[in-house]
Amino acid sequence: MSGAILPMPPYEWQKPQWNDFYERIVNDTLPHAFMVVGQEGIGVDALAMAMGQYLLCLSPLKNVACGRCRGCQLMQSETHPDLLILTPEEKGKQIKVDQIRKTGDFVNQTAQQGGYKVVVLSPTEAMNINAANALLKNLEEPAGKTVFILVANQLNQVLPTIRSRCAKISLTLPSSKDALAWLSSIGIDDAEDLLEEAMGAPILAKQWCEGGIMEERRDFVRGLAQIADRAIEPLVFAKKWSNYDPLMMVNILMRCVDILIKQKMADQGFADYYSSIVRALEACPTQILFRMRERLCEQKSYLLASANLNPALFVEELTLDWHALTNTRR
Ligand SMILES: [Zn+2]
Repeated sequence: MSGAILPMPPYEWQKPQWNDFYERIVNDTLPHAFMVVGQEGIGVDALAMAMGQYLLCLSPLKNVACGRCRGCQLMQSETHPDLLILTPEEKGKQIKVDQIRKTGDFVNQTAQQGGYKVVVLSPTEAMNINAANALLKNLEEPAGKTVFILVANQLNQVLPTIRSRCAKISLTLPSSKDALAWLSSIGIDDAEDLLEEAMGAPILAKQWCEGGIMEERRDFVRGLAQIADRAIEPLVFAKKWSNYDPLMMVNILMRCVDILIKQKMADQGFADYYSSIVRALEACPTQILFRMRERLCEQKSYLLASANLNPALFVEELTLDWHALTNTRR
């Protein structure tokens, strides 16, 4: 989350939010804390960084950073002394209270370039309660020209006391037209299926396309169909996928169940690689599918709320649930 000066806004679909931010500067109503809210994969972090970069530019053009001043140069070399970026030290882990304590010193020092000081923190929900309380002190007593930019993917998991001290900037999903146009502009054409799989989030779709994740998903779905057809033992499957991202797994299962439900309600199209699942579970009663969906929702909330999950056990449990569900068709 640093480096080259970003376009402003970083993505076309963020224009209204960028204008909102810019208007606050022009009208001299800049709050001392923002919370940029939106799901993963739509450029929330990029927007937060661009806001920080704009604030640290010493001679901004109309509403973009100049890219030339001392502030912009320091930003490009990733050594800006008036920017503090707080993220988990390891991906998916918590932001620790020791990291937050650094903000105390940072807020109290004078801006070295004579402009704003900026703290970008992402994601806000990764702070444990001690870290959140330590941050709250800084939000309550802001000093000088320090602007906090907090990123949140799941607003309901952020303490209300923190939420209430920030001006909210909400990002919604871009329309599929805009998302597909953007994917096409970076060389990913005919991406309808891909985008739908990625729940409409274009940047996530791009990452999946580049990281071979779609292949992996297809393989996973094939395995689920094999369980339904009794061609593979559920525990063999669970072992194979024991290191797979649990959230990805819940999401794929939900997608399968959604497709099955939609098939019952109306004959709707779906990507080719789901056809084996649809065939295997044609006779499964709708109310069982709804029950499975509810269970998956519970599993997902549990997953998002628990810090010390055992992924192998979680996968095993999900696989056995799926095995039991696919039994009911007989
Ligand atoms: Zn500049």
